[in-house]
Amino acid sequence: MRIKRLDITGFKSFMERSVFTFDEGVTGIVGPNGCGKSNVVDAIRWVMGEQSAKNLRGRGMEDVIFNGSENKPPLSMAEVSLTFIVDETDQLSPQYQGFSEVTVTRRLFRNGDSEYLINKTQCRLLDITELFLGTGVGTKAYSIIEQGRVGLIVSSKPEDRRHLLEEAAGVTKYKARRKAAERKMEATDANLLRVTDITNELE
Ligand code: ATP
Repeated sequence: MRIKRLDITGFKSFMERSVFTFDEGVTGIVGPNGCGKSNVVDAIRWVMGEQSAKNLRGRGMEDVIFNGSENKPPLSMAEVSLTFIVDETDQLSPQYQGFSEVTVTRRLFRNGDSEYLINKTQCRLLDITELFLGTGVGTKAYSIIEQGRVGLIVSSKPEDRRHLLEEAAGVTKYKARRKAAERKMEATDANLLRVTDITNELE
């Protein structure tokens, strides 16, 4: 998967719609202190499903919505869309296989409502998380290596390092599915127990 394009509207310092296109090779973002370079990375992290305001350098999630400047009023909604070019080696969930591009969108309204979309169709946060599992992309993967993270990876516990290797190998997706299946089996066992109790009561 490769990032092709980022659309930001009303997110942090980006009041007006701003579009970033990423060509092959390395893209650098330069600008004076405080101009919003890190906000671009925050936008990428946010649209991929980040749930921690702290990881986005804010106190609450509403801090990501443009809160006004000297001559511009605050906005009521933040929206970010991130478009990926899909490679045939990407092991996407069956419903997205065959797509050459995937766009994920996240919206947050000041009243707290939020929306997630994949290719303009509304979905759950879980669908976005699952879309990225095993691709190396995502909030808990290694696609964003911020300052200090390399040192942290080198000095981290073997189990934590293993998680990164499993993500790179595409194993995390299967582990998550296995966990979900185990939860379903536990729920089914509980239901069966309840049915047995009711049958015993009736006999
Ligand atoms: P540096 O080079 O110093 O690291 P930077 O270019 O990475 O800076 P950012 O940290 O991305 O800059 O952006 C900081 C700016 O974003 C500040 O001017 C701050 O006021 C603005 N900002 C953050 N959140 C909002 C918001 N919700 N509404 C409006 N502006 C915001």
